[in-house]
Amino acid sequence: MIRAIVTDIEGTTGSIAFVHEVLFPYARRHLGAFLRRHHQQAEVARQIEATREEAAEPEADLERLIAILEGWIQEDRKATPLKALQGMVWEAGYQAGDFTGHVYPDAAEALRHWQAAGIALYVYSSGSVQAQRLLFGHSDLGDLTPLLAGYFDTTTGPKREADSYTRIVEAISQAPEEVLFLSDVIAELDAARAAGLATCQLVREPGMVTGDHPVATRFDEVSVDGMGVDGVSVDPSGLDEARFESGGSDVRR
Ligand SMILES: [Mg+2]
Repeated sequence: MIRAIVTDIEGTTGSIAFVHEVLFPYARRHLGAFLRRHHQQAEVARQIEATREEAAEPEADLERLIAILEGWIQEDRKATPLKALQGMVWEAGYQAGDFTGHVYPDAAEALRHWQAAGIALYVYSSGSVQAQRLLFGHSDLGDLTPLLAGYFDTTTGPKREADSYTRIVEAISQAPEEVLFLSDVIAELDAARAAGLATCQLVREPGMVTGDHPVATRFDEVSVDGMGVDGVSVDPSGLDEARFESGGSDVRR
């Protein structure tokens, strides 16, 4: 029985394009001005110092640091001070109403449905917990954070390593087989399955590579305990039989 669902964000609850075409360009455009304006604020100053350390340039002035950070954005470097500063720029952007977090309507609807059914909902994303809260708190569909019981980012571990999923199920006090992990990335689903979790791949774009995990193009196709969100019952034993008879399809539970 599924008691908890852990979901990825990018390509799963929301579009990959939002992250790459809205969030990251916004941070790139506004980071310099943000730092020039707020560099004396304690939390900003702390991340500026951390940037000097990580870049091994203890004497770097503000303009040099801005250039370093913009370079890190360019190369998609997962530097902790960069992530923290991007989070602050995004927070300012969300609060100013410059953009809202993209969430597919079917995802929001299913999260509501699952929460009402007593399933605990968590997020696991490479974006920081702060960025996750902002996205769901200022989504296209309003504040969705009341639906979510907790957030995990890569401080828990890399998304393609089974140990990360073991840590998550321990943190949420669930048995691995009672937790369903949703993602668009096969390597993440493989890692979750290796840790004993149930899995389902979201295939939001036609032509995406699929593996041997169950697939859904939308959240209302995700089967939880043989029951889709739309109430259509799926008989898992029937699926297994079909798989056996066809000599092995991609359908697997
Ligand atoms: Mg993803």
